[in-house]
Amino acid sequence: MDPTLMESMLNLLPYAVDLVAVLLLALGIKGLAKVRSARSANGLAALALGLAVLGLLIELQPPPLAWAAIAAGAAAGGLPGLLMARRVPMTAMPQTVALFNGCGGLASLLVAVGVALFGAGGGAEAGAALVERLSIAISVFVGAITFTGSLVAMAKLEGWIDTPAWTQSRLRHGVNIALAVAALVGVVALPADPGGAPLWLLLVASSLLGVGVTLPIGGADMPVVISLLNSYSGVAAAAAGFVVGSQLLIVAGAMVGAAGLILTQVMCTAMNRSLLSVLFGGALGASAGGGAKAGGEDGGYSRITSCSPEECALALECAERVVFVPGYGLAVAQAQHALSELAKLLQANGTEVSYAIHPVAGRMPGHMNVLLAEADVPYEQLVEMDAINPEFPRTDVVIVLGANDVVNPDAKTDSTSPLFGMPVLEVDQARQVFVVKRSLGAGYAGIRNALFELPQTAMLFGDAKAVLNGLLSELRELGVGRVKTAA
Ligand code: NDP
Repeated sequence: MDPTLMESMLNLLPYAVDLVAVLLLALGIKGLAKVRSARSANGLAALALGLAVLGLLIELQPPPLAWAAIAAGAAAGGLPGLLMARRVPMTAMPQTVALFNGCGGLASLLVAVGVALFGAGGGAEAGAALVERLSIAISVFVGAITFTGSLVAMAKLEGWIDTPAWTQSRLRHGVNIALAVAALVGVVALPADPGGAPLWLLLVASSLLGVGVTLPIGGADMPVVISLLNSYSGVAAAAAGFVVGSQLLIVAGAMVGAAGLILTQVMCTAMNRSLLSVLFGGALGASAGGGAKAGGEDGGYSRITSCSPEECALALECAERVVFVPGYGLAVAQAQHALSELAKLLQANGTEVSYAIHPVAGRMPGHMNVLLAEADVPYEQLVEMDAINPEFPRTDVVIVLGANDVVNPDAKTDSTSPLFGMPVLEVDQARQVFVVKRSLGAGYAGIRNALFELPQTAMLFGDAKAVLNGLLSELRELGVGRVKTAA
């Protein structure tokens, strides 16, 4: 082959690899939208990112010494990632997602700071210099907010920190505005002096701003923050892509940024919140003080009816229509398989079974869908909140499994409740409700649940998995499933 042609082809190779990576990434992200294809789509997206690294290495052809640094960097990031992915329990996934968002922000931030200090960017020539420097400023600004904001979100979800009282005063708006102004000064001044004082001003002010805006947010508003931070990590990556002249990073970052923003909008609509009220009204959070707080060993309740698995099994045996409401406690108990088995038994008995899915049930968007998909629950049986709410009045039995805030009727009626305005699953409209949980303790928002005291509600205390297994035994003893199967 003509050596010149050969050389041109070799020069084009990194671009071809990049193009394939971009296509695979787009396909991967598309596949993530459906539970069935999510697992393979995740593999596609990972392959795309591996190809991206390969394309970069072909393009840069690093000297031998640099390979050691690259290998060390890959091991330092890859090994903890691998270990975490293998060990993190499903219940800790939201914190992990928050941490990964933060790592994305940190990576973009470090790339931008590195280029600002050592000027190793790919687009630094002539007219591109201003774009590169502005990109550095945006990458540092958004990356730092994402990093510190995500760490705070992770610590809150893990229960390491609570919402400090001082963050509920109006003073915090003043502090955050001052930090935003300082960061803006850094953004504007940075292009003239990329490696100097403006960079450090921007870095410190943006990092503190990330803490300042996330710390006051609590209660039911956390899911919105998580998806917003996810979007920010994409924006920071896209800006870093401009800094180093990587088309793939720009495309991937833009896709993550846009997808995160759409998810944020969907969550806001689902929770009847405006994004501004979440970001600037941290006082809406549970720890802000409103609403009836759960208190004491008995949770402050006076009219509680409890029942045994046997009584619940009898109600289930006669029910024509049963709706299960999964929540965070189902994930804690890892009771999804037992639930799926119970549902199958009831269906064999001729009972109509469905699962009511609240958009913020659990601790991350889509938590319940993923959990139930793992137990092979047919996707068609998962019914979104808007579709299932009108069905509750004709439902014989609702079983609430480790859910609390998402079924709290105060969200509709008590304007002092931190949940007020959040659409909930209207299980109080059903003929009979059984609430499975270990105690009268509160949910994530930390408040009482008026549902527990309603006359049609009975509490079934215990770990969700143990209770479901108990119900399975009772129903089998009653001959449920066997009778209809034989008939
Ligand atoms: P909640 O946190 O309101 O309630 C969970 C309930 O599960 C608790 O009351 C707890 O009661 C019970 N529970 C815990 N462990 C077990 C167990 N082993 N067996 C049985 N029950 C158990 O969960 P929901 O799903 O109803 O609501 C989600 C909340 O999380 C909302 O406030 C939402 O805003 C918030 N959130 C959601 C995010 C998302 O993206 N989906 C992200 C961050 C926060 P007990 O201790 O008595 O057993």
